[in-house]
Amino acid sequence: MIYCPVCGKLLEVAEIENHKIKRCSCGYIDWDNWVNLSAVSVCYNDRNEFMMVHMKGKSKGKLTFPGGFRNLGESLEEAAKRECFEESGHSIDHLKLYKIYTKDDLRLVWVVYKAKIVGGSFIENNETEMISFHSVKNPPDFSKLRGSLTEALLNDLMNEDNV
Ligand SMILES: [Zn+2]
Repeated sequence: MIYCPVCGKLLEVAEIENHKIKRCSCGYIDWDNWVNLSAVSVCYNDRNEFMMVHMKGKSKGKLTFPGGFRNLGESLEEAAKRECFEESGHSIDHLKLYKIYTKDDLRLVWVVYKAKIVGGSFIENNETEMISFHSVKNPPDFSKLRGSLTEALLNDLMNEDNV
């Protein structure tokens, strides 16, 4: 950001508490902490098993949870439902906020919901080749997880009593 979004003046670079920031004489501060928001869901079936998606493309064979970037104008819940449907063919409802995960090197924040699967079946798509269901008794292959946020979320789920 070069210009102040409030008054339009050129921002000046400054340092506050060891953070390089940009600020304006009107009082506006750009904290340089923007992130991309991804809405992710842990979707349970009737047997209390949660769904994971098996990826295609660059991450072929890797496993993660259904989710993706929120479009502007969409609520995070709407994004979670849309992404789940696109990647798995399943409709979800009864979303409850579970946890938030951050990954600064990718400027990425995962907003994770727990949700109930209310219908659907796997549909061929460009992002995933299949889905699978897991629980503490039937965990996925940890060596195939997509990345550190998938690992962190899965670990949290595995350490719960009720999965
Ligand atoms: Zn300003």
